[in-house]
Amino acid sequence: MQKAYRFRLYPTDEQREQMSRIIGCCRFVWNRLLEYSSKSYQRRSESHSAFDLNNFIAHTIKPAFPWLSDAPAQTLQCVSADLTSAFKAFFRGDSSYPKFKTKHRSKKSFRIPQRGKVDADDNRIYVQGVGWVEAVIHRKPAGRLKNITVTVNPSGTVYASCLFEDGLEAPIPVVPENPKVLGIDLNLERLAVCSDGTEYGNPRALKQHERRLKHLQKLLSKKKKGSENWKKLKHEIASLNEKIANIRKDEIHKMTKSIVCDSQADAIAIEDLNVSGMMRNSKLSKHIQDASFFETRRQIEYKCLWYGKTLITADRFFASSRTCSMCGWHNDGLTLHDREWECPMCHTRHDRDRNSALNLESFGLSALARDAGEVKPPEMPSVDESRVCTCIRSMASVNEEKDHGCSMEAPKLA
Ligand SMILES: [Zn+2]
Repeated sequence: MQKAYRFRLYPTDEQREQMSRIIGCCRFVWNRLLEYSSKSYQRRSESHSAFDLNNFIAHTIKPAFPWLSDAPAQTLQCVSADLTSAFKAFFRGDSSYPKFKTKHRSKKSFRIPQRGKVDADDNRIYVQGVGWVEAVIHRKPAGRLKNITVTVNPSGTVYASCLFEDGLEAPIPVVPENPKVLGIDLNLERLAVCSDGTEYGNPRALKQHERRLKHLQKLLSKKKKGSENWKKLKHEIASLNEKIANIRKDEIHKMTKSIVCDSQADAIAIEDLNVSGMMRNSKLSKHIQDASFFETRRQIEYKCLWYGKTLITADRFFASSRTCSMCGWHNDGLTLHDREWECPMCHTRHDRDRNSALNLESFGLSALARDAGEVKPPEMPSVDESRVCTCIRSMASVNEEKDHGCSMEAPKLA
C-alpha cells in the first residue's frame, strides 16, 4: 500500500527563494506546454503524450530559456505528466479544460520523483535542487520513498508530502455471519450521526472565524494595493484561512478514524450525496463547504480500504430520511426543516438524522446478505501515485501528539 506523510518544512531564506524559483519554472513550463498542446489540438486535432511533451521541453523550451535549469529535469517532466493527466480527465468528462497558471492565484507546489530522503533522526528532508531542509518528522514513515511534493501555502508555510510504498497488500474485508453495520448520516447540523447513536458535532470552522475574516477583508479593501500594510493583512487573511481549513481537517480526521476504526463495525453504510448538485444551492453551499461532505466521504473510503472494512453506498435516491425505520412507512411530506417527525402508522417519534442512519444500517445489512460471500473492498478513485494519501498534521495539532489517522490527497489537475 502507498501512504503519504505530510511534514512541515522550515526552509532558510535561500532555500525558500530556490523553492520559489523551481515553482516559477514549473508554472512557466506548464503554460508553455498547455499553449503547445492546445494549438496542436485546434490545428491538427493532435494530442500529445507525456513522452512528446518531455521531448518538447528538452529540445524546444529549455534551449530557448536556459534559466529553466534552476529546476531539476525530473521535476519539469512531472509537469508534462500532470498536464497529460489533466487532459485525460477533461476528455473523460471528469473536469474542465486545463487552465493557465498565474503567479498569485495558482497553487504553489512542485514534485521531486526521485533522490529524496527523509531523515527522521535529524528531522530533515532532502529535496533535490534545494538541499537538506529542516523539518518536523512527527512520525517515522515505513517503506520506500517514491516521491516528494513540496507545497508553499499562501500564508508562507511549507509542507512536504512524502509518498512511501510499504510493500504490504490492503487487508481483505471479512464479513462474519452476523455482521455489524454502521449507518452514517452526514448532515449540516451535526457532522455525522451514526446508527449506534454516536453523534459528531460540526466544528463550524468557518462560522467560528467568519466575523474576524470579514473584518480583515474589509480592512484590506481600504488599503492601497501592494503597500506594506496591504501585504501584512493579506498574510493575516491567508493564515486565518489556513487555520479554518486545519480545524476542519483535524475534526474530520478524528471523526472518520473513529467511525471506521474505533466503532468495531464490519461494514459502513453511507449515502451517495450529490455534493456538486447541493453546492449549486447558494443558500446551502457555504455550509456544505464548511461541513466538508466530499472530504468526509473520501476519508471514509480510503480508511475502509486501509482497515479492511466494507463500504456500502446507498443510491442518492434512497429515501433514508423519509422512511420510518420501524415500520417502513414513507413520509412524502417531510421537508428540510423537519428535524423530528412522528410516524402515523407505528407512532414512533423520529430524530430525522438518527432515523436516516438506522435506515442506512438496514440497507447495509440487506446489501451484505445479498452479496454474501462476494463482498468487495470499496473501489478507489484512480489517482496519480504521487497523490495517494497524506498523513495530515494540521496546525491545530502541531503541539499535540494525537494520532488521528491519515488522509488521501485529492486528485488535482493544476
Ligand atoms: Zn412507522
